[in-house]
Amino acid sequence: METVRHSEARSILSPVSGFIAEAGFTHSLTPARNCTFGCAYCYVPTLGIYGGLKQEDWQKWGQFTTFKSNAAALLRRELRSDQKIYCSPLVDPYQPAEEAERAMPGILDAVLAHPPRTLAIQTRGLLILRDLDRLQNLNQRTRLRVSFSIPSNRAEILRWYEPRCASFAERLETIAALGKAGIETYATLAPLLPCDPEELTRAAMEASGGLVIGDPLHVRSVKRQGATTREAAFRIAEVREHGEWFDPAYQERIVARIKNVAPGFLTGPSGFARLAI
Ligand code: SF4
Repeated sequence: METVRHSEARSILSPVSGFIAEAGFTHSLTPARNCTFGCAYCYVPTLGIYGGLKQEDWQKWGQFTTFKSNAAALLRRELRSDQKIYCSPLVDPYQPAEEAERAMPGILDAVLAHPPRTLAIQTRGLLILRDLDRLQNLNQRTRLRVSFSIPSNRAEILRWYEPRCASFAERLETIAALGKAGIETYATLAPLLPCDPEELTRAAMEASGGLVIGDPLHVRSVKRQGATTREAAFRIAEVREHGEWFDPAYQERIVARIKNVAPGFLTGPSGFARLAI
């Protein structure tokens, strides 16, 4: 089975609902369906058809991706100056397959030509630095925010739960490089995986200049509807004895410890609202 597929999409910007809408965004921009990072906890495949996924996507999550080959052309038609766009709740725009595909340069050029009010890029991919020139240009034309995920400071945790993603140190360096280039870049402690909360938070604060937001792992007991943690993460947690990180009371205590280091730390839509302002 090939890793990279292509299809023509009918539209590229979708009105948002749920978490992302509560944070203040109006639209999502999703360059591809399915994500070759394939994180064990990824919420997206739990959406099923509601995320516009095909059955094969959620059954073989992370094993392939389908790029929207007409994304840039569609964007040129659909962009409006009052939109607040989150890219993306359904895929990492800098997933491994993007390196050869190079979809994002064309997408950023389209956004540059018709800038919306806000563009937030959610990623854990170091590849974002490839597009730094375009991002800097865009930063002059719209309110650009990058939300860069660092769910743990522990190497073995990152290896178990998101084995195709970069190391903790590399992510911190990328956050710092984006910030140094003038781009408002948040270190996003989400989803909070087993970690050393104080150490993680101090490093995140230092790399981002204090811009830190986050969110505990989603669990059904407190999030009745919508996307939640994928089953593969629960299996790892059982084997590695991380069950408490899925317990809302334990998660609250971790968030309180993070707030002791970063008093302005916010989780959930309130935290992500900083990206939408
Ligand atoms: S990078 Fe994001 S979208 Fe991709 S698999 Fe990981 S959590 Fe899911």
